[in-house]
Amino acid sequence: MIRELHEKLVKREITSVKLTQDYFDAIEKKDSEILAYLTLTKELAMEQAKFVDEKINKGEKIGLLEGIPGAIKDCICVDGIRTTAASKILDDYVAPYDATVIKKLKGAGAVILGKTNLDEFAMGSSTENSAYQITKNPIDTARVPGGSSGGSIAAVAADEAVWALGSDTGGSIRLPAAYCGIVGLKPTYGRVSRNGLIAMASSFDQISPTAKTVEDVAIVLSAIAGEDKKDATSAQSADKKYEDYLTGDIKGKIIGIPKEYMTGLAGEVKEIFEKSVEKFKTLGAKVEEISLPHVEYALATYYVIVTSEVSSNLARFDGIKYGLRVDDKHDSNVAENGLPKTLLETYLDTRKTGLGSEVKRRIMLGTYALSAGYYDAYYLKAQKVRALIRRDLEQAFSKVDFIYSPTAPETAFKIGERSSDPLKMYLADIYTITANLAGVPAISFPIGKIEKMPIGGQLMGKWFDEEGILNAAYTYEIN
Ligand code: GLN
Repeated sequence: MIRELHEKLVKREITSVKLTQDYFDAIEKKDSEILAYLTLTKELAMEQAKFVDEKINKGEKIGLLEGIPGAIKDCICVDGIRTTAASKILDDYVAPYDATVIKKLKGAGAVILGKTNLDEFAMGSSTENSAYQITKNPIDTARVPGGSSGGSIAAVAADEAVWALGSDTGGSIRLPAAYCGIVGLKPTYGRVSRNGLIAMASSFDQISPTAKTVEDVAIVLSAIAGEDKKDATSAQSADKKYEDYLTGDIKGKIIGIPKEYMTGLAGEVKEIFEKSVEKFKTLGAKVEEISLPHVEYALATYYVIVTSEVSSNLARFDGIKYGLRVDDKHDSNVAENGLPKTLLETYLDTRKTGLGSEVKRRIMLGTYALSAGYYDAYYLKAQKVRALIRRDLEQAFSKVDFIYSPTAPETAFKIGERSSDPLKMYLADIYTITANLAGVPAISFPIGKIEKMPIGGQLMGKWFDEEGILNAAYTYEIN
């Protein structure tokens, strides 16, 4: 899609201003129902689009992403634009700088339409944890789009953006991509700079691209990837054009299927998955059963470490440094007893008012896991299991090129169905979190439908082998 739009721009069959306006018209028409966007950035978008059109008019060469409109998850900072992370505590926060990925996208001439909805601070699997609105699945608006990047995914799936950025800490780009029938890629930890991403769990978070096709995802990844001095965890890597690696040939590649993932799988999802395995075989791949002996502990490990990192990362939202401050319910800085409020009371009142219940739940769990008496039993133990899971993957990848499974054990669930049961909600991530625990790249792409609801397949790749999984998913997609 991006390539076709690019050709049209170059041949002057359309202008970027017209294209951008078309997308704003689509947003105007559909978004009152889908609720994908929190903030529109029309002025910025039009300025970027005009600039690209002028370049084209002057006969200058333009890049593939230049003049093509996309959307940004609202936990990624865009200079001068309200950035809420879908939390009341950042309700009026205006980012004072561009995240590195935004700087890169602006440099590549991409057009930014607006900021999209998410679960508060990216904690969730359905986008129901947003403090503002519940984004709908564009295929069936009674269902969730998945989360936490539900706004970005729904915007693309509903043709309210060509591409989008989300973030993926435990599956947040892949799960909604699967639920809405599009493509989402979580890069290797360190492939994309986290500078300017509002942190959820720093040793897991990765900014992640989504779009309708594998090639489009590759094009966006090419624009945002690379080493960044502002993120010490970003890896040294040369700039690459990931789209150039899409050969459509996976003959001889070995795909491993973890037997542990197959035990819980049932019904139509299983059937569709098995059919997709057959398709990979006909495309020339070899399929083998493998074992990841420690993945049964992945979910527990993830939720201990993630909540610990959450409790630490979110300590900064205290009413003093950013966003909301609840100084006082009584119009002055005086507590109920008539005495001046203490700093602690300001912290407590601000956090009580500004943070939602899932965020509070995780801060409490994480604080508990990190506390002196329980650190060894929970946090340290979980870190050890994380190392074992990573070792499982190292061993598997010494034998196979990719690890394949469904993205989720079921299709998108109904809005409200799981919101009162956090444990059930956490189970949606069963297949996705392993990639984040180990830091490997993973992609979700459509492999079938149950009635009209899409099913995603997930390929995990070796560390820094984004081109490998992109090409495998691409080969699947075009055949
Ligand atoms: N659903 C997972 C969680 O709630 C993953 C979220 C994410 O990837 N940001 O932690």
